[in-house]
Amino acid sequence: MTLEAVPQRKIAVMIPLLGEEEAQAAAEAVRSGWVAQGPRVAQFEEAFAARVGAGHGVAVSSCTTGLHLAMLAVGVGPGDEVIVPSFSFIATANAVRYVGATPVFADVDLDTGNVTVETLDAVRTSRTRAVIAVHQGGVPLDLMPLRAAAAEWGVALVEDAACAAGSTVDGRPVGAGATIAAWSFHPRKLVTTGEGGMVTVDDPEWTTRLKRLREHGMNVSAADRHRSAQPILEAYLETGYNYRMTDIQAAIGLVQLDRLDGIIAQRRELAARYHELLADVPGTRAVRDPAYGTTNYQSFWVLLDPEFGATRDEALAALAAKGVSARRGIMAAHLEPAYEGHPYADLRNTERLTRDSLILPLHHAVTEDDQQYIVDVLRGLNGA
Ligand SMILES: *Cc1c(COP(=O)(O)O)cnc(C)c1O
Repeated sequence: MTLEAVPQRKIAVMIPLLGEEEAQAAAEAVRSGWVAQGPRVAQFEEAFAARVGAGHGVAVSSCTTGLHLAMLAVGVGPGDEVIVPSFSFIATANAVRYVGATPVFADVDLDTGNVTVETLDAVRTSRTRAVIAVHQGGVPLDLMPLRAAAAEWGVALVEDAACAAGSTVDGRPVGAGATIAAWSFHPRKLVTTGEGGMVTVDDPEWTTRLKRLREHGMNVSAADRHRSAQPILEAYLETGYNYRMTDIQAAIGLVQLDRLDGIIAQRRELAARYHELLADVPGTRAVRDPAYGTTNYQSFWVLLDPEFGATRDEALAALAAKGVSARRGIMAAHLEPAYEGHPYADLRNTERLTRDSLILPLHHAVTEDDQQYIVDVLRGLNGA
């Protein structure tokens, strides 16, 4: 008996692009003898801030810790409300709880997955102190109206740019003109340092405070103390944290940053090809550039309309059976046990998106042939 040789494909949803250059850079940091936060972190902060058009960068251990520091920087605390999308990775909402404030969930736009002036205004109260607006999956927020509204309301606008390195709004990179933005270098994002994050700001005084908060509240960094010929006695000015990045991570980050433009160009090509292939699969709506900007396609999500021939979970199961590791769409924090009993208003678009969307594989190793294969599975479900 002969078995038909049909090799089972294995297509991952995301693979970080890491090469020999990253390995070399990490090795050089190790050989230098300085592995904690030091000159490479400083260099990475400067390069990253320059790339995203921000004044200053403060490297931290993750975007989550960066959001925590952002809450402290804007002065949010117990009794305050901070509006966040439920439609986000749960860290966005959790950062509000870290400082004893209350996250208030706003709905999102169905096309972008992002909060808008209208969805924020619908849940705004006299206790609203800040908003954490998310550039979800790399799709940029419509920043001009959001910034105008935040200024009018007197609330701080914090940007969760975890996924948005290299995305643009009105011709400028996400990060430009932000009061404060937090970024992630987790391997699911386009620039990775294993774990890691950055906070970018324009105000030099905030930069000083953020650098202090990430390093135990010290008034002088350990690296500066080490470099000084004279003994420096540090003081601890407030309760800080250990949210530092290492020089090994920063060395990798510097190489990754050089790759960013190439990574985005390739992702946009792959996304365009998905758009072409999906055009004749009824009931599918794939994420696209909004009118005011461009996405880096950190996530390529597809919303299934009722006319599609199967549910999202059926689609995921069919793809998995064919070796394709797709993922459910972005989560909704208000549906998780950690937020059970937490009040929320009308979140109809959030619930629709999280229930009916899936994320398709998109990374440097995805071939045109893979894309055809993936879309054929979806088309098959449709019975078309
Ligand atoms: C990934 C992500 C985070 C968390 O980033 P970490 O660096 O893993 O802490 C926060 N917010 C959003 C929107 C994310 O996608």
